[in-house]
Amino acid sequence: MSLAQVRHWVFDMDGTLTLAVHDFPAIKRALDIPQQDDILSHLAALPPDISAAKHAWLLEHERELALASQPAAGAVELVRELAARGYRLGILTRNARELAHVTLGAIGLADCFAVDDVLGRDEAPPKPDPGGLLKLAQAWNVDPSQMVMVGDYRFDLDCGRAAGTHTVLVNLPENPWPELTDWYASDCFALREMLAL
Ligand SMILES: [Mg+2]
Repeated sequence: MSLAQVRHWVFDMDGTLTLAVHDFPAIKRALDIPQQDDILSHLAALPPDISAAKHAWLLEHERELALASQPAAGAVELVRELAARGYRLGILTRNARELAHVTLGAIGLADCFAVDDVLGRDEAPPKPDPGGLLKLAQAWNVDPSQMVMVGDYRFDLDCGRAAGTHTVLVNLPENPWPELTDWYASDCFALREMLAL
């Protein structure tokens, strides 16, 4: 199968469609979370009232970041091309769904994704769990082998492999995980060019 024949595309958000701006060390310092801990796991283990207060801070901080989002190189052009072809497009992100919509609006792609096809941290288990991709496959009524997962990190690739979709790695200067990658492009401009092949 060539990449252009894949008609069902799922994107990671941060670092894939947008420039990565999360300053995780700063967030952890602000929330008094040890640097080696995972933020969401750490918050989940706290007493409910403290966890809720820190979640609220995180959401507010993330909203400011979402409003200031910048598109990754070629991301807008790629997604517009896919949408113009009538392909089905989804998002699988660790962001909250509401913030994913804010982000898509900020980079000018809100109209390219159906609301239900944007899965945030409350709609799907975190990658690399394949649950989110399998949920979209079911909603779209396609076999995962007809889909591609596009991301900038190995969890995106692992997630695709676990679900049985194709995988694309973007936005890294080279590919550290060739065994997990079906297609690799240095950015979304290069990926869009691969659609012509
Ligand atoms: Mg990412």
